[in-house]
Amino acid sequence: MTRLIPEPYRIKVVEPIRLTTRAEREAILAAAGYNVFFIKSEDVYIDLLTDSGTAAMSDAQWAGLMVGDEAYASCRNYYSLKEAVERIFGFRYFMPTHQGRAAEKVLFAAMVKPGDYVPSNTHFDTTHANIEAVGGHAVDLPIAEGLDPTNKHPFKGNMDVEKLRGFIREVGAEKIPLAMLTITNNSGGGQPVSLANIRAVKEVLSQHGIPLFIDACRYAENVYFIRQREAGYADKTTLEIAREIFSYADGCTMSAKKDGLANIGGFLAMNDEQLFQKASQLLILWEGFLTYGGLAGRDLEAIARGLWEALDERYLQHRIGQVRYLAERLLEQGVPILEPPGGHAVYLDARRFLPHIPQAQLPGQALVVHLYLEGGIRAVEIGSVMFARKDEATGEWRYPQLELVRLAIPRRVYTQTHLDYVADVIIELYRKREQIRGMRYTYEPPFLRHFTARFEFV
Ligand SMILES: *Cc1c(COP(=O)(O)O)cnc(C)c1O
Repeated sequence: MTRLIPEPYRIKVVEPIRLTTRAEREAILAAAGYNVFFIKSEDVYIDLLTDSGTAAMSDAQWAGLMVGDEAYASCRNYYSLKEAVERIFGFRYFMPTHQGRAAEKVLFAAMVKPGDYVPSNTHFDTTHANIEAVGGHAVDLPIAEGLDPTNKHPFKGNMDVEKLRGFIREVGAEKIPLAMLTITNNSGGGQPVSLANIRAVKEVLSQHGIPLFIDACRYAENVYFIRQREAGYADKTTLEIAREIFSYADGCTMSAKKDGLANIGGFLAMNDEQLFQKASQLLILWEGFLTYGGLAGRDLEAIARGLWEALDERYLQHRIGQVRYLAERLLEQGVPILEPPGGHAVYLDARRFLPHIPQAQLPGQALVVHLYLEGGIRAVEIGSVMFARKDEATGEWRYPQLELVRLAIPRRVYTQTHLDYVADVIIELYRKREQIRGMRYTYEPPFLRHFTARFEFV
């Protein structure tokens, strides 16, 4: 048993939540077509749909909103954010954006030509889509351990450096305008990337003159894992580790909705002056002037303060500790999850949880529906609903290897008691798992199916 780490904050403002009755939840689910995206947030008791933009801001961040300077150009909050970005990330140039995906859109439009390749440990889905949108190919080169749901490798988010070398040989460096590393690796389960891996990737790229950009959304959580798990870093400060990570990169994209501890925002940063100028033109066209990039002055201030708070060791110890605590409570009772847990979420393995439900009957979705039915908990399916593809030639379905249900933990929002409740509901559900039935579509949209599909029980 891990020693309980109490919340490193006390509560000053509360937002009431209400547990509905089971009969109410049955009606709510039916009205939502068994798609939890359509359930009103006020009808959710514990919302683990995402950790993106759902953080609780600190008193200092809320105070920061009041010093928001809403001048169109060169507001004071831009300079607060600029200072935080320079001191933590160390890049020469930066521009705010309204979200992480806007930073990606600007970056790839400025750097990627049709037919180019952009390798990564694993691209996040918006990153993947933004590369493809400008005619490029997004390529994932994770280490094999990262794809095995029970492998306990300490840095499952790493890129396969040998594969990267081979890939550059195969397509040619002139076809690779940049490479990326996502830290932590979101699509791989929030798994960290080691500094040794970042250094090795940088070395290979340097030999070919290929720039490295980091998708930095959960960089602070990655820093904490390096401090805990990588030899030589236990005595370094989180800031020192962050500085070392970004010293190997030529730039980064960031969603402040994750480790910016803000509810909206992001930025793009880089060292290359020409790239900055090109990106500036696109930013002004799509997002806004260079000093606000689609955000209000007050948002810039909240992000500047949030970036510093996310590097606080006590915060990170509690944050990562919460995720691990939930994972360990489930593992103790034999509930199958992805191991080891990553930084921001626990992933239930729905194929092992519900072995009696074939993938064609959407076990992940069935589990999501039952989490809500049993306990008013909202999670998200990352399995067949999201990823199964029909082979146009044969009409046969191809199902993903993993059928997961993600329980993403919002930052500073829920207490230990909430997580105990979540664990209790899941453990109870696991004991009566045989009673859970599969699901089928009543409406199946052509793309991004998970957002708008509707279902019924088989
Ligand atoms: C959330 C996320 C993004 C996109 O950021 P948004 O702010 O949602 O646009 C990009 N990469 C990773 C790894 C993410 O988790």
